[in-house]
This record gives sequence, C-alpha cells and structure tokens, in this order.
Amino acid sequence: MKLVIASNNNKKIAEMRRILSLLDISVITPADAGCAHLSPEETGSTFSENAQIKAAEFCRYTDLPSIADDSGLCVDALGGEPGVYSARYSGEEGAGADEANIDKLLQSLEGVPKERRTARFVSAICCVFPNGDTVTAEGVCEGYIGFMREGNGGFGYDPVFMVESGKSFALLSDAEKDSVSHRGKALRLFSDKIAQYLKK
Ligand code: IMP
Repeated sequence: MKLVIASNNNKKIAEMRRILSLLDISVITPADAGCAHLSPEETGSTFSENAQIKAAEFCRYTDLPSIADDSGLCVDALGGEPGVYSARYSGEEGAGADEANIDKLLQSLEGVPKERRTARFVSAICCVFPNGDTVTAEGVCEGYIGFMREGNGGFGYDPVFMVESGKSFALLSDAEKDSVSHRGKALRLFSDKIAQYLKK
C-alpha cells in the first residue's frame, strides 16, 4: 500500500517518514505523488479538524490513502495560544516564519517565571482512505518554554521548547525527539491502529 504524506513542510515530512518507517507501507511525499502544489486552507478550529481537511484534500487529488499531521504549541500562560495558529503566530507563513514566531513567543512571555512557562505540543494525525474511511490518533508532549533559544536541530519552536531533562527539542538527536515528541507518540499509536484497520 502507498500512503501520501499530506504536508509541504519538509522537516515534518522527514519526521513522519522516519517514525512510520517501521510500517510495511510505502510512505511517499507529495512530490512523489505529483501533488506538491496542494495547500489546503486550514479552516478548522481544532488540530483534528485541520488534519482531516488536509488528509481529505490530498486523498481526493491522488486517490491514494493520505496522512496528515496537524500540530502546534499550546502555552498555558497565553491561554493555550498559539495553538492551531502556531505556524503563523507572527503573521508570517512558510519556512521563514520560524524565527519570527519564536521572537513573538519569547516577547509574549517576557517577565513570566519558569514555573508559569508550562506548555505542550499536540499532534493530531488523520489518515483518509479513498473509500472515506479514516484512522486517527493524537499525541501530546508536555514541557515548558525556555528563556532563550538553545540548539540548532529540528524546526519550528524546537529551540525554545524544553522537556523534562532541561534540554530543548533542538538539542535532542532525532531518535531522542521521536521517543518523547507529540508526533512520535501520535504516529506510534497510529501505526497500531492502521495495522488493526488493514487486518479487517
Ligand atoms: P501545521 O503544519 O499547520 O501543523 O503547523 C504546525 C506548526 O506548529 C509548525 O509550523 C511549527 O511552528 C509548530 N510545530 C509543530 N510541531 C512542532 C515540532 O515538533 N517542533 C517545533 N514546532 C512544531
């Protein structure tokens, strides 16, 4: 079976392919499937609604099962923001927005002490099949927002998202991030669920 990743974020695609590599499924990119131009509007108010919108559009276009991750950062001191707006928090969009998003986040949390900087990453996974069936999963990673950037790895808010060890996501190896991350948890649960689905 071929499964199209419904995303144009290359860093996210790399994480998803890495974590799904244990499945006996050929996981292909939008470029491989001839649909790299698709950019569905994320009009949902939850991560799971947006994951469904993205997966459904790629599935409709390719007629292949398509899997989307919709994810984001929820910061307690900001009432859960940036949430579903994580990718465009600063007003900028696309690969170049990461730095501006982090700057805005650090500014919004200026003066907030460590114990009130708690936050979590959420990943909602949705796979849509051409017959309309869906398989979904969600994963959460608890942490807190640091006071400055640490490390160069990963993407998005990784340099300022700190996990229990006191290290930012950007300082973790790929395997370390995958073992604790929201996306790692969601995709491992998804892997179990799709194995069950395919046995039916
Ligand atoms: P999406 O592509 O609409 O799901 O946007 C998700 C946004 O949330 C990304 O652009 C990042 O800003 C942020 N994000 C999600 N997952 C991660 C992660 O693992 N590390 C850092 N930032 C993330």
